[in-house]
Amino acid sequence: MVFVAEPVARLVEALSKLPGIGPKSAHRLTYHILDSPDEEARALAEAIVALKEKIRLCSTCFNVTDCDPCVICRDSERDSSRVCVVERPSDIVPLERTGKYKGLYHVLHGSISPAQGIGSEQLKVRELLTRLENGAVKEVILATNPNLEGEATAMYLRRVVTSPDIRVSRLARGLPFGAELEYADDMTLSQAIEGRQEF
Ligand SMILES: [Zn+2]
Repeated sequence: MVFVAEPVARLVEALSKLPGIGPKSAHRLTYHILDSPDEEARALAEAIVALKEKIRLCSTCFNVTDCDPCVICRDSERDSSRVCVVERPSDIVPLERTGKYKGLYHVLHGSISPAQGIGSEQLKVRELLTRLENGAVKEVILATNPNLEGEATAMYLRRVVTSPDIRVSRLARGLPFGAELEYADDMTLSQAIEGRQEF
């Protein structure tokens, strides 16, 4: 790092913080950006700024959005009697890609993790229960990750969704334990949605 110009080092350091980007990739990307036309580099920088300035959370499902309610919540073609509960906004992308699910979502923004001191009160659980109060939702699909925290979160939600009129289901096994939804392949995820079971 000693011989690189400060702006180069600065971008390398910033890129290194991204998931899956090691120092080598960060270097490669930095020099790629440096070689690219000014307007491309500027467009990238502006896209990052706009992302943080324009994106907020949907007040209904807590997905990231630039309009409220988000495009999913305001889509009247979707089945509003089903709500699929996910840990992170990024989990919605692979589920949508399967094309097998036409209901709504609810993003918890995390999972219960006693080890990290994260309890249900830090997640959007209260908001979910409030959302279920009017009786319009008939099925809650628990699509938390198939790992320890995801399972603990699903069990907790199973306990607190007490209405007898709401079916609670969990994505089918087939997703390997310890996996994350975001990285599941389309086929496995499609089967997991279609084969969801009473939970
Ligand atoms: Zn929404």
